[in-house]
Amino acid sequence: MTMKEARFYRTRDDGRVECHLCPDRCIIAEGKRGACRVRKNVGGRLIAENYGKVSAAHVDPIEKKPLYHYYPGRPILSLGTAGCNLHCLFCQNWEISQSSVEELSLQDLPPGAAVQAALRIEGNIGIAYTYNEPLIWYEYVEETARLAAREGLKNVLVTNGYILPEPLEELLPLIDAFSVDLKGFRDEFYRKYTRSSLQPVLDTLRTVRRAGKHLEITNLVVTGLNDDEESFREMITWIAEELGRETILHISRYFPAWKMKNDPTPLETLRRFFTLAREKLDHVFLGNVPPSEGGQDTLCPSCGHVVIQRSGYATHITGLDRSGRCTNCGHRVLKHI
Ligand code: SF4
Repeated sequence: MTMKEARFYRTRDDGRVECHLCPDRCIIAEGKRGACRVRKNVGGRLIAENYGKVSAAHVDPIEKKPLYHYYPGRPILSLGTAGCNLHCLFCQNWEISQSSVEELSLQDLPPGAAVQAALRIEGNIGIAYTYNEPLIWYEYVEETARLAAREGLKNVLVTNGYILPEPLEELLPLIDAFSVDLKGFRDEFYRKYTRSSLQPVLDTLRTVRRAGKHLEITNLVVTGLNDDEESFREMITWIAEELGRETILHISRYFPAWKMKNDPTPLETLRRFFTLAREKLDHVFLGNVPPSEGGQDTLCPSCGHVVIQRSGYATHITGLDRSGRCTNCGHRVLKHI
C-alpha cells in the first residue's frame, strides 16, 4: 500500500511538522513520529503509517464496546490498528496501543475491503473502530465510514475523546454512535496517569451530545487513582447537568494491566458508585463484574420495569416493543433497536 498523507498538519520552514489532530500538537522532526507512534514526518510530509493496517478484526456483540442502548444484541465488525495518543499506565490493550506499525504484525485491509467484509456478516449493523484509539487512525476511519454509510451500515467510534475541535467536527457526520471513556474527573489524574488532559475530553462529550449522536460513557475506576467519592460525585453532576440525565454510564472494574499493579477495584466501591450515579442518571451499568453483582439490566426510567436482561454478553429484550417503548408503561426507552 502506498504511503498515506495525514490530514491536519502544517510543515514549518525548518522541515519539522506540526500535527493538529489532537491536543498534543506534536512538533515532529524529519524521520520521527508523534507521541501516538503512528504519524511520521517523511521529508516534511506527515504520513499516517497505520492507514489500512489492522491489528484485530472480530465480530463482537455491540455490548462489548460497550454500547447497551444501540441495537442491543446485534453483532458489529470491530477493527483496530496500532498506536494511541494517550499512554494510560493501566491500559488494558497496551500491546497494540503502545506499539508502532513496525512492532506489530498487521493485516492490510483497505476501506472498500472492510466494508465488503462487514456486508458479508449476517445480522451485522456496521463497523466499530475500537481496541486501540481510532482517532489517530483518522484518515482510514473517515474513508471507511463514508463508504460504510453509503451501504447503509452504522459507524461506531470507541474513543478516548482526545481530539481537537476541527477534525472532530469533520468526522462527526460520519459517526452514528460514540462510546467515550471518561477516565476521571481531575485534570491532575489525566496528566499523571494518561499523559493527556481532561478539558478536551469534556469538550468532545459536549460536541457529541449537541450533535444528537448516540452516546455512552465508560468510567474505569482504578484503585487508589480515581476512586475518591468527591471527584466521582462531581463527574456525575457534570454529566447530568451538561449532557442530560438520560446519558448512559458504564462504571467499569479495573484489573492490573501494563504498568499498573494496584489491586482490582473492590466490588464494594463499584456498588457505592453505582448507587450514587443512579441518583442523577437514568441508566447506569456495571462492567467487568460477575453477573451475580447485577447492574446489567436496563430498567424503564419511568416505571422501573426490566426491559432488557443481560448476562455476560447474552442480551434478551424482554420489555420493549419494536419502537423501543416499554411494554408496561409506553415510555420510550431506546431510540435504536
Ligand atoms: S495525533 Fe499523534 S502526532 Fe498528532 S498531535 Fe496527537 S499524538 Fe501527536
